[in-house]
Amino acid sequence: MPEIMYIVIPCYNEEEMLPITAKALIEKMDTLIAEKRISPKSKVMFVDDGSKDATWELIYRFHKSCDMFTGLKLSRNKGHQNALLAGLMTAKEYADIIVSMDADLQDDINAIDGFLEKRAEGCEIVYGVRSSRETDTGFKRWTAQSYYKVLSAMGVDIVYNHADYRMMSKRAVEALAEFSEVNLFLRGIVPMVGFKSDIVTYERAARQAGESKYPLKKMIAFAVEGITSLSIKPIRFITALGICIFLVSIIMLIYFLVIHALGRTIAGWTTTVVSVWALGGLQLFAIGIIGEYIGKIYLETKARPKFIIETDLEKEDR
Ligand code: UDP
Ligand code: MG
Repeated sequence: MPEIMYIVIPCYNEEEMLPITAKALIEKMDTLIAEKRISPKSKVMFVDDGSKDATWELIYRFHKSCDMFTGLKLSRNKGHQNALLAGLMTAKEYADIIVSMDADLQDDINAIDGFLEKRAEGCEIVYGVRSSRETDTGFKRWTAQSYYKVLSAMGVDIVYNHADYRMMSKRAVEALAEFSEVNLFLRGIVPMVGFKSDIVTYERAARQAGESKYPLKKMIAFAVEGITSLSIKPIRFITALGICIFLVSIIMLIYFLVIHALGRTIAGWTTTVVSVWALGGLQLFAIGIIGEYIGKIYLETKARPKFIIETDLEKEDR
């Protein structure tokens, strides 16, 4: 019996892209069903992340015109990661395997064949990995690559060049549901789930319509989230830095006492001012980093819901 596959797609203001995506996906699904590689009960689940345009109307229309489409509407915009999680948590009730991808078709849908092959070999998680980043701007490529390096230096277990294009079995998603953190950085948490996993490489295309929903500001916030929600190394680094600076100041003190004893004291105005500024800066930096983590703890203790579902078209039908 082929397994039921759900494709979960978070969508935020994607009215330009959705018709193209829906058409491409339905062709892909039809082929896979005809080849008996997935069950005819398989579906595409669009998650509307509080879009302000006609995204939800489109999803609703697709759902009415074709059984293969279903939709989930969040009560408001909660961001890509939360929308994806909402989709995964809902889809796991109906599906055996769940593929997550973006609405813009930048991830090659033909990689799903590779996912299914790995699944047949018994994998519970299959990561889609970009073979090149030629379609990204030089700036995005450079920042992304340096970022992966920083993350791995911080001891975060992350799959290189993998975004959120992956296949997870129902079992893996159920395990993911046990991770109750509010500060969500899925590509760092999924590897913690474990199980037999593998990667499938694919070429990443350029966005076909609409524009990136990740402007620089959101990208930076996401990057900081990735580090602070998965690693405490920055705090340790600050502590170590503090100790070093303290040692240096003791050495300086000794040095000044010695030259004082030798009677060669010159007005040490420069040294004083420089050290006051340097230390002030470092202290602020340290407090900022600590504050970042306290902020995380604050949010985690509140345990607010990560998403609220307004409508689940799938449920309405059953
Ligand atoms: N997205 C979302 N909520 C948001 C921002 C983005 O659901 O607040 C979705 C968006 O519709 C797309 C995916 O997340 O399906 C990735 O966004 P995008 O393609 O704009 O990011 P990029 O590929 O430029 O990193
Ligand atoms: Mg994109």
